Amino acid sequence: MNFFPECASDLTKAKMEGVERTVCSSPSCTYVFWNNPTTVVAAIVEYRGKIVLARKKGWPGFMFGIIAGFLEKG
Ligand SMILES: [Zn+2]
Repeated sequence: MNFFPECASDLTKAKMEGVERTVCSSPSCTYVFWNNPTTVVAAIVEYRGKIVLARKKGWPGFMFGIIAGFLEKG
């Protein structure tokens, strides 16, 4: 794939957190090609008898989730 079908901009390489990734070249687009995006891991983290929950920046104050993320090749 040489371009992102939703905005029709070229794909390019960019370093994200020290890892080179394929991303959309349009400055207004946030598309990132995550390799193997359907494999996920989640964990329930217990600390001092309580469960640790996480919040994503921008979530409403009442929303929390368990610690989770995608796995990718390598
Ligand atoms: Zn784009």
